[in-house]
Amino acid sequence: MDLDAWLPRAAALRPDHPALVTGDRDVTTYAELHAAARRAAAALAASGVGPGDRVAVSLPPDVPFVATLHAVLGLGATFVPLDARLSDAERAQRAAGAAATVAEPLDAGRAERPLAARLDPDAVATLLHTSGTTAAPKPVALTVSNWQWNALGSALALGLDRDERWLCTLPLSHVGGLSILIRSAIYGTTVVLHERFDADRAARALAADGITLVSLVATTLRRTLDAGLDRPPRLRCALIGGGPLPPTLAARAADAGIPAAQTYGMTEACSQVTTSLPGEPETAGRALVGQRVALADDGEILVAGETVAPGAPAADGWLHTGDLGRLDARGRLTVTGRKADTIVSGGENVAPQEVEAALLEHRAVADAGVHARPDPEWGEAVVATVVVRDGHAAGEPLAAELREHVAARLARFKVPKRIDFAAELPRTASGKLLRRQLR
Ligand code: ATP
Ligand code: MG
Repeated sequence: MDLDAWLPRAAALRPDHPALVTGDRDVTTYAELHAAARRAAAALAASGVGPGDRVAVSLPPDVPFVATLHAVLGLGATFVPLDARLSDAERAQRAAGAAATVAEPLDAGRAERPLAARLDPDAVATLLHTSGTTAAPKPVALTVSNWQWNALGSALALGLDRDERWLCTLPLSHVGGLSILIRSAIYGTTVVLHERFDADRAARALAADGITLVSLVATTLRRTLDAGLDRPPRLRCALIGGGPLPPTLAARAADAGIPAAQTYGMTEACSQVTTSLPGEPETAGRALVGQRVALADDGEILVAGETVAPGAPAADGWLHTGDLGRLDARGRLTVTGRKADTIVSGGENVAPQEVEAALLEHRAVADAGVHARPDPEWGEAVVATVVVRDGHAAGEPLAAELREHVAARLARFKVPKRIDFAAELPRTASGKLLRRQLR
């Protein structure tokens, strides 16, 4: 897919429209962002950055970060955002091979350099890392074309309004956050950028800042509801992804007037692969335009299409996601778990996500993580770690009650043999449960 370069086009179409809202309602228009990106491009070009080079960027989620993104693209180079939480050694490893590392805003000089008017569809636009949920994070090279198809598919799945305001509280070094910036630049719409997730601030923004779209994961949705979010006036879709959306949480969101849509995606497929309709988050919905989803014989979800990174390992033309699911007659996907997480207890397969969803239906449970423990009798035993809601007491009486609660809902072999309690569960920067750390 061949489009004009994203930021220059948006700046030509609607120069005075807000591109970004940062800090305490500071507005940056498309014309201003374009000028900042031209200055950043002059600085990068002066330090020798050219087409095909990688630029590692370690900046807070603010205007200079976004200006640098478009400057890098405008030079035909590859944008490599580094997570602020990386250790020095990890940072050095990810920046290896980069022509430049940007750790300070590139906005000192006055010189400007025009951004390319057209982006090569096959150029590698970004190098992002996966979340590192199952193993060490893997680098994924996404092309300009991958991103353009993602923007098209997402707009057709969710609809698009000229006055869209998309609230981003996700890390911009992850595909979930960066995709909001890139899609909105392609659409010429507004991103409201919070530098980190803060439940009270997110709830306030949704109530008063005219937010129409927001991307959340299950934990941040729960925390925003806990912070009192109720009937946000302009919100037309809360996109929930990155991990399972427990049915109890979906029901809570519906009660609070939140039109939640479930989305299934991954770094290797440039974020969204399938998305449900707003208000119908029971499944992860249908494949976006340009994408295909199928199931292998063992239930593994296979993905192919225009947003899959060309370098992602594929077999028979399909990306093997490592996720498990089912498809209904209308092509809607339900994600049931991850192959690597499957617990084999006494010869029976248990998806920990199913047990977690059952635990979360209990009023005393704020959060739950289920995993396997080696067991001489069963091979693996199902065990759970539970975070108790305020006002409830952790301990053996509650553990026994929770086992009964699960037994009333699921087959006997899925009931946790043991339940431990913790103050919180280990999660990645993007909010995913680090199940292997529960072990
Ligand atoms: P790594 O590949 O490094 O182990 P990761 O797969 O968690 O980490 P991401 O690319 O950020 O890294 O996340 C994609 C994964 O998130 C999917 O493969 C899937 O396991 C999970 N996921 C995304 N959406 C959903 C969903 N709607 N329901 C359940 N799981 C989901
Ligand atoms: Mg993965």
